Amino acid sequence: MQNLPEFTEITPTADISSGAYGARSKCLQRLIRLDMPVPLSVALPFIEVRAIASGHRPDTRALLEAFGKYPLISVRPSAETADWGGPGTILNIGMNAATTAHLAATIGKEPAEKLYRRFVQSFSVEVARLDAEAFPPGQSLEGALAAYEAEMDEPFPDDPAIQLLEVLRSMARAWEGTTARLLRQAKGAPAEAGLGLVVQRMALGLGQGECGSGVIQFIDQATGAQQIKGRYKSQAQGREALTADAGALYLTRDPRGESLEERCPELFAELLAHGARGRIGLREEMQIEFTVEDGALRILDAVRVPRSARAGVRVAVDLANDGVIPREEALMRVEPQALGELLHPQVDPEGERDVFATGIAASPGAAMGRIVFSAHAAQACAAQGEACVLVRHETSPEDIRGMHAARGVLTERGGVTSHAAVIARGLGVPCVVGASGLAISSRERTMTTADGRVFREGDIISIDGSRGEALAGAAAMLPATLDDGFATFMTWAEEFSDLGVRANADTPQDAETSLRFHADGIGLCRTEHMFFEDDRLTVMREMIFADDAEDRRAALERLLPMQREDLLALFEIMEGKPVCIRLFDPPLHEFLPQNREGVRQLAEAMDLSVSRVNQRIEALREFNPMLGMRGVRLGITVPEIYDMQARAIFEATVEAGRRGAPIEPEIMIPLVSAKREVELVKGRIDSVAAAVRAESGVDFGYQIGVIVETPRAALRAGEIADHVDFMSFGTNDLTQMTYGLSRDDAGRFMGTYVQSGVYPEDPFHILDIEGVGELLLIAAERARGSKRGLTLSICGEHGGNAESIAFCRTAGMDYVSCSPFRVPGARLAAAQLVI
Ligand code: PEP
Ligand code: MG
Repeated sequence: MQNLPEFTEITPTADISSGAYGARSKCLQRLIRLDMPVPLSVALPFIEVRAIASGHRPDTRALLEAFGKYPLISVRPSAETADWGGPGTILNIGMNAATTAHLAATIGKEPAEKLYRRFVQSFSVEVARLDAEAFPPGQSLEGALAAYEAEMDEPFPDDPAIQLLEVLRSMARAWEGTTARLLRQAKGAPAEAGLGLVVQRMALGLGQGECGSGVIQFIDQATGAQQIKGRYKSQAQGREALTADAGALYLTRDPRGESLEERCPELFAELLAHGARGRIGLREEMQIEFTVEDGALRILDAVRVPRSARAGVRVAVDLANDGVIPREEALMRVEPQALGELLHPQVDPEGERDVFATGIAASPGAAMGRIVFSAHAAQACAAQGEACVLVRHETSPEDIRGMHAARGVLTERGGVTSHAAVIARGLGVPCVVGASGLAISSRERTMTTADGRVFREGDIISIDGSRGEALAGAAAMLPATLDDGFATFMTWAEEFSDLGVRANADTPQDAETSLRFHADGIGLCRTEHMFFEDDRLTVMREMIFADDAEDRRAALERLLPMQREDLLALFEIMEGKPVCIRLFDPPLHEFLPQNREGVRQLAEAMDLSVSRVNQRIEALREFNPMLGMRGVRLGITVPEIYDMQARAIFEATVEAGRRGAPIEPEIMIPLVSAKREVELVKGRIDSVAAAVRAESGVDFGYQIGVIVETPRAALRAGEIADHVDFMSFGTNDLTQMTYGLSRDDAGRFMGTYVQSGVYPEDPFHILDIEGVGELLLIAAERARGSKRGLTLSICGEHGGNAESIAFCRTAGMDYVSCSPFRVPGARLAAAQLVI
């Protein structure tokens, strides 16, 4: 066939790129180049399909000439990336009375009529968009034709050229529909993403001799382990074997029933050989759709096996270990955020479960967050960094962005293939659908269970997407299971990346998680978190209520051993890896009760009058506490606090050394804006160190640094650098102060701001390179200008975001530090920057 301008026959040498014809066309060309028995296939490029969607009528008669006198073809979608989806495949185009009679001579009357009936049915439902109920499975050919005519008021089109034209038009238009567009955009497709189509000669799968169709793949899609999986069905078409309730064969020998391997050993061997060649040639684990036509194998299509994040990592590692792809490519094949999904915790099966609704387990994993009843609220929550669970009657395309923003989704209606289920799986968001018995009122913002329990917006619930349960409160969760594939993958990422990755970890549990995720150390330990625990909180409050330095010292002396033990635990877990400890940062009022009952209890615990407690709370009240007496300002005003912390750090250091986990602690001063602050605090820390050395008779090293969180500290980084060993950028506060934008309140208008393009992204999620980034560059340059080799890092939330990490690397930072669960993704992002 000559190449018509609109259509291109897929041959080994045809000029087909996935950017013009789509991934499926390109893949078929690769299969053809590998000498696989692919039936004649013709590709339509994006521009052609776009023209068809806007009214152009392609010359389908000319196209059909390539397929002979009785053309019988299928049309499949071919988007630039297979993940972006596309309309469903239509089979058996070309069936009419004449073709049926012609086919009857070779395959028999009954199979020929079956093909015709199937085509009428799928054309009616998929192309003419008639009600599927008018075309039930047991319907006769005549019944289907009559139903079409009754609904459409015209006979079923029997001209293959017209049939094909209608199919092409319907698929082209479906691609432009709102649902399809939102779906693919949620998967990262650009607004103008194109669709190509593939017209392929049908290999029948019905008729005399061994005929049938099946699907085969060579891995388990959940774990990525090598395993032959799939089904085959005699006298069947397309993917029927996968959905067939009865009559399908296993592929390999199986105690449960007959297999293709036993029935057609040669054909099975041929299939395996193609599979092995495909894996190497396409450098990927493919799922192959095949047909057997009177004993002859045909390969119709191959798609990348859809897989879980865990399997994605395993496959990349296996392909690299088998020499099919280099390690660099294995690292490039996994998206940094996908690693987050892999690390998804599960609800602890042994833990307490307060199940308030049961439904269908639509998307696995466990999630916990506050209830929101609208996609809008979910986005607002996410913008503030708050975990939320989206609760809806059912979801629709308008909800996709909200589903993206939510940690979990719960719906009252729907089944495994409902919108919510399909989208949640695609996005990797744990989801339960069809939780019947729930009465959801989006207006009242309440959800009532069958037995009358009422949940309101803001209440915390958990979703067990693996079991299909919704649980009240924060359920106990188990960390994800990480296999050898993950460990190997992370080792490779470490080998390639030239940027350190540490974790922000405050508790021994965080520290353990960080190590499991291969963190290089702790980049930020927020010590104040150690004081929020019950027994410590009381002592902390006593310290705040102390009337004089003496009383304060007594309270601090009780806090000292607690702090020392906490730090010792961290040092021991981290086994000599660096630990950066930030001195006390928040304003003191955060430790005081917020309501009357709390005040009363505190008065009782302290043996004080309520009015005395209120007086002290009043005295500590500030108009702008985040800009008030916190961080180093508190450290200088009430120096005993930092003295106690420095002592706890050094005593823990001495003890860790004795226990065989020597460490050189890094002490970080928060909220600095002037060099004199550093001089003062450093002077006191140095004398505490000298005292501990003298008392213990043990020598130890330590480093002192600052967290750069104020614009002035960034600008004066040159002179501050003279006094410190390291600087870490606290980009949460630095963003807040650079924009003059409250990190706690910005969620109210962040959605509007991003939608109206005032900000390209939420600057608390993705570092604002233009503004905050410039400050960062100025600081880095000035700091290193006065002290070459000064260690620079980032420890704000941005440290876990791939785009921000790229910037940090260019800015010459030594490491990034982020929450433990983001460590693997950050490491991978860092490695990908080098490759
Ligand atoms: C920061 O401000 O970026 C930071 C890491 O500190 P915190 O989030 O504790 O204020
Ligand atoms: Mg901060």
